[in-house]
Parts: sequence; structure tokens; C-alpha cells
Amino acid sequence: MALTNQYLIDLIEKVKDRNKGEPEFIQAVTEVIETLEPVINKRQDLVDAGVLDRLVEPERQIIFRVPWVDDNGKVQVNRGFRVQFNSAIGPYKGGIRLHPSVYIGIIKFLGFEQVFKNSLTTLPMGGGKGGSDFDPKGKSDAEVMRFCQSFMTELSKHIGADTDVPAGDIGTGAREIGFMFGQYKRLRNEFTGVLTGKGLTYGGSLARTEATGYGLCYFTKEMLAANGKSFDGKTVAISGSGNVAIYATEKATQFGAKVVTVSDSNGYVYDPDGIELDVVKQLKEVERKRIKEYIGRTSHKNAEYHEGSVWTLKSNSGDIKIDIALPCATQNEIDAAGAKAIVANGAFAIAEGANMPSTPEAINTYLENGLLYGPAKAANAGGVATSGLEMSQNSERLSCTFEEVDAKLHGIMVSIFKACDEAAKEYGMEGNYMAGANIAGFLKVAEAMKAQGCV
Ligand code: NDP
Repeated sequence: MALTNQYLIDLIEKVKDRNKGEPEFIQAVTEVIETLEPVINKRQDLVDAGVLDRLVEPERQIIFRVPWVDDNGKVQVNRGFRVQFNSAIGPYKGGIRLHPSVYIGIIKFLGFEQVFKNSLTTLPMGGGKGGSDFDPKGKSDAEVMRFCQSFMTELSKHIGADTDVPAGDIGTGAREIGFMFGQYKRLRNEFTGVLTGKGLTYGGSLARTEATGYGLCYFTKEMLAANGKSFDGKTVAISGSGNVAIYATEKATQFGAKVVTVSDSNGYVYDPDGIELDVVKQLKEVERKRIKEYIGRTSHKNAEYHEGSVWTLKSNSGDIKIDIALPCATQNEIDAAGAKAIVANGAFAIAEGANMPSTPEAINTYLENGLLYGPAKAANAGGVATSGLEMSQNSERLSCTFEEVDAKLHGIMVSIFKACDEAAKEYGMEGNYMAGANIAGFLKVAEAMKAQGCV
């Protein structure tokens, strides 16, 4: 989208100049700023209050050494990060990513996105994100524990139930959250809701595990319904085979769709008879194995495994025809070629479970071809929304049933879709839910920042 507002053009240039070597962060900021032009054209008061100038700069960035000893007695050193991006509407909130690709640019892009996503949930949560370049893959439980304890030893100085409440993300699941929570409690001698995604025996919320994937399908269902469509009888391609992918597969299947792909960073499974989810859960949640092993475990004789990206949408018998794409793996997993394959193979809708899984070129391809496009900030907000519900339950020292949490999650996803839809219409971009999400998420944070003065 070509900008004409000189203030916004200059702002993007300034962000590029000040954040060199951080392409993911620049990509995330550029997308948001481009879609905010109609708002900024009407709201000189927000320009005068320097809202956007402040919003693109994290409130605080913490980088620290994480030393730990491996099973051979050798010292290992990783780098830890926590970016406390924006606390205008609540305590910082956002997950911890453990993956070798993590550096400050990834954490900043995720923290920036989180500000808008958390705003859209309607709950009082600011935005933050953290992580480390530690790779839990191939490590023993004891090594993961020693890493998590060392990571939390430093992180505990900067977080708290009313300050900053981290959660899971890629590489950080129930096991890692448990080790981190244990160390925080030991260091601070307090039992508070400082982390979400906790186990059910120590303050976790029912339905948190399912929330991002289920929420993605609740959002998608609304988007489809608003356009006279549904999941029923449709063929769905999903990428990833982690937390988000597993529960998106479960809910899409409950909604009557057939999910035909899952993947990991090595390759993808195409199962024309529909993914056998129990097999994926056993491989990924219990045994921590590669998705390739699905083939030897499933009773479905026609299942195939291929190396490479699922978004080539190729099978042994030719193209994989789909109706709906739900990327649930990682950032920029769909480039222009992937987006073209999605369009060419028949998809009419795409909704993002992963954060920023589509490159700008891919997004343009969706929009130019009239796909219904549910952007990550809105479509995957169910995870953090349910984390917000976990925080409320911890504060009240009460716990809700699965059905209560799931019903609230559903209500939140319906209201997020409505907010995106209405904001897009109000600013003359009907059907552009990306613009709607950015605008609706921005306005709440912007009003709060303006009201609180230049801080
Ligand atoms: P998991 O660690 O549970 O699973 C991640 C999945 O994505 C794995 O299958 C992994 O494969 C695959 N993956 C990771 N990196 C790559 C890569 N470079 N190329 C291809 N595949 C890759 O993470 P989650 O399911 O929790 O997170 C998935 C996405 O959803 C992320 O973008 C995350 O930020 C986002 N998200 C997660 C939320 C949550 O509540 N968990 C909330 C909102 C967004 P492999 O095992 O080979 O690495």
C-alpha cells in the first residue's frame, strides 16, 4: 500500500534507520503503519501526542546471559531476552520463545504485534515478549530444567503478576513453564499468577492448551459466516504440528472440515483421508518425535510424507486442492510462491494461527485474489485471551470449568471479528480484516497513551 501521509512516510524511514538488521521488526511495524493512514489523517491529536513515535519504541528491552551446565558437565551459554513493549492498557503480557533463530529483532516484532493483539482481546493487558536462542530439541529434561532455572533467575527480577506476565510460545510448553514457575516461586517466595500456561495442579486454566487453535477456528468461523461460508465439508491445509496446529486441527474437524496436512521444520504429511490427530498428539505432545513418523503410525494407507514446505501443496498425485489454509508454524512461512500455490489450489480463505506467517508479498497475493484473510493479531488472539482469563482466576483464587472458559474464549473471538469488521468498514476498507485489526487494536492503546501523557 503506497502511503501519502508524509509524517507516516518519515516515521517508517526512522524505524528502518534505528532498527537496522531487524527485518522482521521493520516488516511488522511497516504493515501496521501503512494501514493506519486513514486514522492518522483524521486524528492530528494523536500525532501531536506523539503516540505512534512512542508506540514503535519498546518501553524497555532486557538482554541477559543464561549460563547452564549440560549433561556432560560442560558450561553452555545462551542469550535471554525480554522486551516490555507497551503497558498503556495493562501489565506487559506475551510468551517466551525458545528457538535457535531467536534474536532481539524477532522478540521485538512479536512484542509489537502483541500490543495490538492484546488490545483486541478487550482484556487489560499490555504487550511484551521474551525468549532465548536455546533449542529444547534434543535436550534431556534435566538440561531443559537447568536452562529454565537459569533463565528465570535473571527474568524474575523484571516480571511479576502486576508488572509482566510471560507465557508459552514456540519451544515453551507445559514442561518449560513448570520449571520456570518453580524457580520464580523459590526465588521470590511467592505463589502468584506470574506466568500463564501453568499446569492444572498449580494454577493453570482449563482450555488454555486448546485456546489458540480453538480461537483461530472460532475467528475463522465468524469470518466465513460473514461471507456466507462455513467449515462444513471443506478441505483445510494446516502447517506446524505444535500446540496451535494440533488444536486448530481438532476444532476444524469438529466443525465438519477435513484437515489434510500438518508439518514441522523438516517436512509435511499429506493425508487425503484426514489427519489422524491422536497419532500427531502422541508423537508431538508425548514422544517429541518428528512428523515424518506419522506415516509408520497412522492406519490411513494413503498418507504421504514430503520434505520441504507444506505450502508447495504438492502430493504424489499432483496438486493438493484445498478450501481453507491455516498456517500455524512460524513467521514468514508463506512467501509469494506459497501464496500463489494457495490461490491456485482453490483456497478462498486463510487465517493465521502463527505470528506473521505471511510475507508482505503473500498478503498482497491474498488481497488481490479476493481471499478472505484473517490476520494473526486477530485470528490467534485466543491464546493470550485465555491467558488473561487464567490471570483473573489466579487473582480471584478461583477456577472455572472447561466449558466456562471455552464459552468466554468463543465470545471474545466473536467480538474480535466484529471489531475488525466494523473498523474496516468505518475507515472505508470493508472486508480488509488486516486493516480492521490494526485500526481497532491501535485506537484503544492510542487513547490510553494520550490520556496518560508523555511517558
Ligand atoms: P510449538 O513449539 O508448539 O510448535 C511449533 C511448530 O511449528 C512445530 O511443528 C515446529 O516444527 C514448527 N516450526 C517452528 N519453526 C519452524 C520453521 N522455521 N519452519 C517450519 N516449521 C517450523 O509452537 P506453537 O504451536 O505454540 O506456536 C506456533 C506459532 O503460533 C508461532 O508463530 C507462535 O508465535 C504462534 N502463537 C502461539 C500461541 C500459543 O498460545 N502457543 C499464541 C499465539 C500465537 P519443529 O518441531 O520442526 O520446530
